[in-house]
Amino acid sequence: MLGGVKITSQAERFQRVDRNRDGKLQAEELRDYLINSGELREGVDEARLLREFAASFEPTRAVGYTSYEQAAAKLQQLAQKYPTLAQRVSLGKSVEGRDIWALRIGKQPEGKAPGAVITGCHHAREWMTVEVPLDLASKMLDGYARDKDMKKRVDSLETWIVPIVNPDGYEYSRTEDSWWRKNRRVNDETGCPKPKPPSGDFEWPTPVGVDLNRNYFDAKNPEMYRQPGDTPCSYQDDPSHTSDGPRTDTYRGPRGASEPETRAMQDLVLGRANIQGVVDYHSYGNMILIPWGYKTEEPANIETYRTLGNAMNQALGGDYKVQPSMDLYPTTGTSSDVFHANGKLAITMEIGTSFQPPASEIPATVDKLTRANLAFLDHFTR
Ligand SMILES: [Zn+2]
Repeated sequence: MLGGVKITSQAERFQRVDRNRDGKLQAEELRDYLINSGELREGVDEARLLREFAASFEPTRAVGYTSYEQAAAKLQQLAQKYPTLAQRVSLGKSVEGRDIWALRIGKQPEGKAPGAVITGCHHAREWMTVEVPLDLASKMLDGYARDKDMKKRVDSLETWIVPIVNPDGYEYSRTEDSWWRKNRRVNDETGCPKPKPPSGDFEWPTPVGVDLNRNYFDAKNPEMYRQPGDTPCSYQDDPSHTSDGPRTDTYRGPRGASEPETRAMQDLVLGRANIQGVVDYHSYGNMILIPWGYKTEEPANIETYRTLGNAMNQALGGDYKVQPSMDLYPTTGTSSDVFHANGKLAITMEIGTSFQPPASEIPATVDKLTRANLAFLDHFTR
């Protein structure tokens, strides 16, 4: 057991799991770790997740998934091939200075058509969530000339596709630690006292990373970032599954929207009145999540969400579950809550049954989810 503190760096995991083993990773230790960190949850393929977790102790193996550089090049190629239909745009720079790339797809001038935003990879280890938005971009543009439905979507909508919200974390996950979730902020100034290390020879490395999908902030609704009664600087993981502990996997950051990646997304979605809806990709669980994440109350437009969620589920084959985000687990500081509170239709997709399915599953998975994305876009297509 990990004493209630989630240990998130690979070095820390090595040390912690090493303490109880004799030369070889023990399945029970790995399983205990995943239970303790809340990762054996509803919708998991437990055997598969355990294999992926064990692999995170080995050199990383992101073979077959699209790298940050490849994704950036792919968006550029599409923009060059279809210059009247698409432009590649940098939404800002990550902590380590990488561009957060978007592809704007639409025939009409910017800001004129109803807008939708499709995002992937807030969380570094959720590799499949990069592939899904990329596939949508290709299919919309390659289909334009021969598919009248696709033409209608491109002609009448403005679709922003952001395959990698967290480029630093994604590359770190691909090359260093496949279990990495957060961005790559060095948390030297948290505003909280440092925790005591556990006894023994264990030493805390410098904490790194903010959970970008706990860092969204709306000044009109500060309780979405920090609930009343949630005391700052409590190092234990609190009941809302959001933490002030800089080494936990769900660290919300020193303050709301502290991270450039979060601000880039807030600027995109909240800074444009024409944006009406957002789909944010995560894994896993085979779920279509609708607001809210921070409270149980149903949104006033719950029927619209149910209709939209059911249409997306039908399009992808009907094996997903449409449910309020809160029913999976309570969260604060999420993009969906902040965007919903600002009048956007905000859907969170939890795709698949683990974080890093074999790359051989990419084609079938993206095909299925692109159908759901198109159903989402059709809600706004006139
Ligand atoms: Zn996620």
